Amino acid sequence: MNRVREAAPQLAGLVPYDPKYLPASAYLSANENPRDVDAEVREFIARAVARVPFNRYPDPLAGDLRDLIAEANGLDRSCVLLGNGGDELLFDLALAWGGPGRTCLNFPPTFSVYAANARLTNTTVVDIARRDDFSIDEEAAFERLGEGDIDYIIVASPNNPTGLRAPQDFLERLLAATDALVMVDEAYFEFSRSTVRPLLAANENLVILRTFSKAFSLAGVRLGYILANPGVISEFMKVRQPYSVDAVSQAIGSVVYENRARFEPGIREIIEERSRMFDALRTTPGVTPYPSDSNWILFRMEGAGEAWEYLYEAGVLVRDFSATPLLENCLRVTIGTPAQNDEFIRVLRGFAAHRGSERAPAARA
Ligand SMILES: *Cc1c(COP(=O)(O)O)cnc(C)c1O
Repeated sequence: MNRVREAAPQLAGLVPYDPKYLPASAYLSANENPRDVDAEVREFIARAVARVPFNRYPDPLAGDLRDLIAEANGLDRSCVLLGNGGDELLFDLALAWGGPGRTCLNFPPTFSVYAANARLTNTTVVDIARRDDFSIDEEAAFERLGEGDIDYIIVASPNNPTGLRAPQDFLERLLAATDALVMVDEAYFEFSRSTVRPLLAANENLVILRTFSKAFSLAGVRLGYILANPGVISEFMKVRQPYSVDAVSQAIGSVVYENRARFEPGIREIIEERSRMFDALRTTPGVTPYPSDSNWILFRMEGAGEAWEYLYEAGVLVRDFSATPLLENCLRVTIGTPAQNDEFIRVLRGFAAHRGSERAPAARA
């Protein structure tokens, strides 16, 4: 046959996820940890991987790593499930709680993967747009929830790409107001130092998402996990790919998790650099940064598209959100090493000065 019938209708017009990765000297676009796993931990990893039997299927539930995570969080292993990155677990959420005739509540601008997964699974998305300062419109959320048809809700805390975490009291009231499954995406909680884990005991409808991709420098390895009550975990187990977390990733994850204290100084540095970067952005003419609890800062400036180009020409790759609704003229810069951050600020100020001098005559006229 020299033709093929159309793919499923929900794929029409859908654009595959594009991380917009381009060659650069400073990658400040994907919220990765700027420092790779240190040399000693890499050696422990090499030893652990050398013992992995490649000819055998992996432990479907990653038992060793699961136990480590459960213990660290004061939970039973039945409350933990590993996935092939947080992304797989986000897809599993849409498979298990979404589907035709089902509805999710979303708070844009937020992580675009949430809406994409809903669409792939024919789940209806109800958007409650964030306010101008990117806080959640709580009143609108509760009012919509009152209609009783919402099956699941995702709240990123901190919210990517805007930066701040959701207020704890809002999350508590949300969990109390509905029996919808509420996923709190804590992909960046190591940088916000805040978690809703204590709310698991009283809330059957809470699921927390975490990842090894950000604070733990393992974006290349693909490991994420959820924390939830056993009833919720069992539903995720029904839809997940049984062998999605390969044996090599399990071995790497266990070593990194056991050595997680070693990542603390790097996390502290990112938090300190975040406030230095915020001040530098705030004092750059024409730039408005948004406060962040995470490892990036979103900022708005006239001519953001040109600024992105200018940075890219200088070898600094940031993320352009200027085409995203509610994020006109917004760029997001990941906090890098102090040297990368200095370079970013230097180039951005060069751009601002250049634009300022082009405009000066008009401003005087
Ligand atoms: C990075 C990220 C994740 C998970 O990413 P994985 O690499 O798939 O673990 C989940 N949610 C948000 C908001 C993220 O930014």
